[in-house]
Amino acid sequence: MRAVVITKHGPPSVLKVQDRPDPPPPSAGQVRISVRAAGVNFADHLARVGLYPDAPKLPSVVGYEVAGTIEAVGDGVEAWKAGDRVGVGWFGGNCRECDPCRRGDFINCRLFQIPGISYDGGYAAHVIAPVEALAHIPDVLRPEEAAPLMCAGITTFNALRHSGAGPGDLVAIQGIGGLGHLGIQFAAKFDTIGSLDRVKGDEYVPANTLDLAAQSKMKRPISLKRRPVDVARPSASAKPFAVPIPHL
Ligand SMILES: [Zn+2]
Repeated sequence: MRAVVITKHGPPSVLKVQDRPDPPPPSAGQVRISVRAAGVNFADHLARVGLYPDAPKLPSVVGYEVAGTIEAVGDGVEAWKAGDRVGVGWFGGNCRECDPCRRGDFINCRLFQIPGISYDGGYAAHVIAPVEALAHIPDVLRPEEAAPLMCAGITTFNALRHSGAGPGDLVAIQGIGGLGHLGIQFAAKFDTIGSLDRVKGDEYVPANTLDLAAQSKMKRPISLKRRPVDVARPSASAKPFAVPIPHL
């Protein structure tokens, strides 16, 4: 199969497209996925340059925003079958036995796994993943749409839904990057939640714009007329405000 392989931790580091042997049949509790799309995330770069304490042994394949179709299931896998459309994100598996796992706190598992770091990731034609890492992808989503949701999407979606902001509140999303552009779209789809992104100085992009990139270039300032809300939920008497944040 073709895969994008890290051959050396950097800098300088190199990603090489290589032909590798197809992965073996999945073991018990695993599935083998035919990868249809893989999101590109900055943490792939961190893995590439070897900044993770448990950096993968080389050569390795990065990529933890995976969307594809199950092509084989291992022994004991009953909830999934060949042909199912699935995704795998930063959560790439847990041990189910440590104290955090026994409390249901899987993301803090002591043997937490990350695709592309703990095992070969999605920059490849096939990937093997444990079943607990799988997310179902509905038919309405194309693979290239679903893949970035596996990490950047779930991060911003959860940040919004746990922020305390409700319909009619205004939230600010800093930075139209790989995560921010998804956060703005989620906020807009939450119907009555407005969102903004700071472009430069006191200029902002409204979330209901149809073309975020074009709006960013226009750098059209808008006024803050609605009550802004942060995680702390200011009182109803709070005045509109804008907090200057230096560009990173
Ligand atoms: Zn665990």
